[in-house]
Amino acid sequence: EAKLERGSSYCFFNPSMNHKIVKQVELESEARVALKEHQFFLALQPQIDLSNNRLSGFEALLRWRHPQRGLVPPGDFLPLLENTSMMTELDFWVMEHAIELLSKLEKAGYNDVKMAINLSAAQFANSALQPYLMELIDLYSVNPKNIELELTETVLVADIERAVAVIQQIRALGCKIAVDDFGTGYSSLSYLKMIPSDIIKIDRSFIAGMLETESDRNIVSSTINMVGSMGLEVVAEGIEQAQQLKELGAMQCQYGQGYYISKPIDESLLWNTLESKIFNGRWLV
Ligand code: C2E
Ligand code: MG
Ligand code: MG
Ligand code: MG
Repeated sequence: EAKLERGSSYCFFNPSMNHKIVKQVELESEARVALKEHQFFLALQPQIDLSNNRLSGFEALLRWRHPQRGLVPPGDFLPLLENTSMMTELDFWVMEHAIELLSKLEKAGYNDVKMAINLSAAQFANSALQPYLMELIDLYSVNPKNIELELTETVLVADIERAVAVIQQIRALGCKIAVDDFGTGYSSLSYLKMIPSDIIKIDRSFIAGMLETESDRNIVSSTINMVGSMGLEVVAEGIEQAQQLKELGAMQCQYGQGYYISKPIDESLLWNTLESKIFNGRWLV
């Protein structure tokens, strides 16, 4: 009987679960302080048009310069903040800063350069998203067609009908929707059918394998063809080698992004980098 009691109490008190909740609460309050103390900043990763090497846009990536822990990558804190109110605050902070930067780029003459912004799945069920986006477009006088919002398959886990309604409102503003990390989930094709999108980003795991692995290469080329026939734009992520860039160009992949083209650039270095990396309108790879 004592054994049974121990067994059942173990179910009610799972120490690792409790530890996770404690960590999450700690992290949430740390992030709140960090936002006030300007510890967050953006890194911008260029995307280029593979047919002519012109700069086509940037993806805004969140960075946290923590006073004790140094530079913390988003994968170390964003997953823990998911479904907390802090996640929304961070997503909205990124949106405002990325759109402010876009307005500076437009004013500097980069009229066709896009700004891609990652949003957590929860924002696609957030009724405050569309009005906030509209307010930012107005406040910073940017061209809405230059704003791309990236989502991942996890929006499917939430309320899909609600997500589709929010996506339609966003597209009605003139902004674009990009499906991130395409091909990594379990329901990629049904998800493509359900979600009204403009851009598909092929996950970097397929690009990483495309030179050595026949199946990865086939997935990449057939995705490019399928996306093209659906009338959508395609971006290859995670290009790390010259040969990948060359073959993606031959496969008529429209856009590319990856360390071989450029690592994400800290926002403080952006303008100097633009001056040194663009020659005759072309990004120097
Ligand atoms: P993601 O949206 O798929 O972003 C691409 C990630 O791949 C970035 O990592 C980028 O630095 C990295 N990357 C780019 N090119 C290469 C390459 O050639 N090779 C390799 N190995 N990696 C490459 P990062 O910045 O650590 O971001 C990780 C993830 O965190 C992002 O994946 C995105 O899902 C999320 N994230 C980043 N910023 C935000 C944000 O502001 N809001 C939200 N909700 N999520 C964000
Ligand atoms: Mg992304
Ligand atoms: Mg991605
Ligand atoms: Mg990814």
